[in-house]
Amino acid sequence: MGVLLLVFLTLAVAVLFIFLVWRNGYVKGWRAAREAPPMCPACGYQMTGLKQCRCPECGRDYTLDELWKSTRAGMRSDRG
Ligand SMILES: [Zn+2]
Repeated sequence: MGVLLLVFLTLAVAVLFIFLVWRNGYVKGWRAAREAPPMCPACGYQMTGLKQCRCPECGRDYTLDELWKSTRAGMRSDRG
């Protein structure tokens, strides 16, 4: 029965390790997404601190949803 206990402990450690690695990557991605500045989808101007969704560089209007999507898309293309 000692072998079963050893197998169980090995599996438990493996699962814990995978969970910690997954959680670490998830939190990092979440923080990066939150800290990334919103960018204009058209010209890439950083729209941090603006009170309206209008790009001062190219003058286009955007919704917060469009800004959020473009920022996330930009992060993805940066990675790879
Ligand atoms: Zn712009």
